[in-house]
Amino acid sequence: MMIDYRNGIGYDFHRLKKNIPFVLGGVRIPYSKGPLGHSDGDVLLHALVDALLGGIAEGDIGSFFSDHDPRWEKADSKIFVEHARKLVKKKKFSVHFVDAVVLAEKPKLQPYFVAIRKSLSSLLLIPLSRVSLKAKTAEGVGIIGKGDGIAAFVSVMLRKT
Ligand code: MG
Repeated sequence: MMIDYRNGIGYDFHRLKKNIPFVLGGVRIPYSKGPLGHSDGDVLLHALVDALLGGIAEGDIGSFFSDHDPRWEKADSKIFVEHARKLVKKKKFSVHFVDAVVLAEKPKLQPYFVAIRKSLSSLLLIPLSRVSLKAKTAEGVGIIGKGDGIAAFVSVMLRKT
C-alpha cells in the first residue's frame, strides 16, 4: 500500500514594537519588544497554521481568522493552531514531523528552545522528538537585523491515517 505523505510550508512576519508581550510558539519570553499584530502576533504559530493548512490544501490562516475580525483581537494564537490541527485530522491526516526556523536578531532564543518545542508538541499532540526548532539572526542587516521584525518558516510533514 502506498503511504500518502504531504509536505506543508508556512511563513510569517511581524514588526516588533516596544511594550508588547513577546510570544513565540505559545511561550512568553521576557523582552522589551513584542510582535505587533491583530492577535498576539505569534509568528511561529501563524507559520505553523499556514504549514498545516498548506498540507491539506485548505488555504491559509487568513481564510479562517481574518485580521479585521474583532473576535481575534489580541487572540491567543494557540486557538488558530487547534483549529488547523482539527482540520488536518478531519481530512484524515496526522502530523508526522515539524521543522521550524525563526529569524530574529534579539532576544536570544536558544534558552527557550525546549520550552517552545514542548509547546508545539503539546499543541499538535505529537512527541517532542518530532518537533525541530532552529533560530537565525540577520547579522544586523535589514528590518530583522535591526531588531524591528521577526519571521518564521515552518515545514510540516503530514501522513494519511
Ligand atoms: Mg501573523
